[in-house]
Amino acid sequence: MKIIDLRSDTVTKPSKAMLQVMFEAEVGDDVFADDPTVNALEEKAAKLFNKEAALFCSSGTQTNQIAIKVHTQPGDELICDRTTHIYNYEGGGIAFNSGVQVRYLFGDKGRFTAEDVIQNINDDNVHFPKTSLVCIENTVNKGGGSIWSLEQMQSIKKVCDDKKLPLHLDGARIFNALIETKNTTQEIGAIFNSISICLSKGLGCPVGSVLIGDKDFIYKARRIRKVFGGGMRQAGYLAAAGIFALNNNIVRLADDHKKAKYLEQIIQHLDYVDDVITVETNLIIFKLKVQISMPHFIHHFENHQIKIVPAGVQTIRFAMHLDVDDSDLTRITEALKSFNF
Ligand SMILES: *Cc1c(COP(=O)(O)O)cnc(C)c1O
Repeated sequence: MKIIDLRSDTVTKPSKAMLQVMFEAEVGDDVFADDPTVNALEEKAAKLFNKEAALFCSSGTQTNQIAIKVHTQPGDELICDRTTHIYNYEGGGIAFNSGVQVRYLFGDKGRFTAEDVIQNINDDNVHFPKTSLVCIENTVNKGGGSIWSLEQMQSIKKVCDDKKLPLHLDGARIFNALIETKNTTQEIGAIFNSISICLSKGLGCPVGSVLIGDKDFIYKARRIRKVFGGGMRQAGYLAAAGIFALNNNIVRLADDHKKAKYLEQIIQHLDYVDDVITVETNLIIFKLKVQISMPHFIHHFENHQIKIVPAGVQTIRFAMHLDVDDSDLTRITEALKSFNF
């Protein structure tokens, strides 16, 4: 029986068509900037967001960490929501790589307001760390895939412009957001100084993220990528998958959202479930009632050949992705309904 893997949207395997373009990619040495396929991916990603330049990196952690490093100096402070990936899931990289501390906000499922930002920018005073960056995550992973509206993001940009602060987007799942809101990548590009997109999540690539910004920013980012050990050589094989994904795997994200909404309907009505975060995109985060044993629940799914992992106290996250099909939904539903507690 096929193993269904709901642990993350990173678990997808490249399709035959994707492998074919990887196999046939023209490559060079990207540290010498002469890998034509990497250059083509960077150009494509930059153009998509109406920015000047882009940089292909190994992971979303790397693109975010490079951006933070370029935008800040040691001792500075950045503003983000307490749910963010940069704060929770990058191994303390903000402190480790950049010597920067975090001023975190208590937003609504990861989404804070312009007023929140204004309240948390430090005055210019020797006692206070210098506020030097604001970061937004869209969609918000720990927010259950919640989406920022264009207006919310634009109002943050206005504050950043007024206060001369750069604004970074962790857009690991920005295409999931855009498929729902129907806003354009150009509209996103106009708001942010730097943007990180992940190719290895819903877009189905084996590896890779892209950092996007203006020429001067990417020039500095390229140096930091080398310092972080992220200069790759014949990376065109990986970049080819990225080009394929941007051409073929964005529109289909809507299918993942449909699957997530279908399962949400079922999970909502289960006796042993306390709460489900309203599904907006491809992630379903729900809480089991206090008396339910998490290991027991996870083991039950293992017995149905379905892989899941905890996402916090009594909390489970199911990620929908391109390797979950309709017959898998039937099996997931059966596993949910047959759980005896
Ligand atoms: C997955 C993810 C990243 C990057 O993760 P990597 O595993 O390093 O590629 C960054 N931000 C968010 C919100 C993510 O979900």
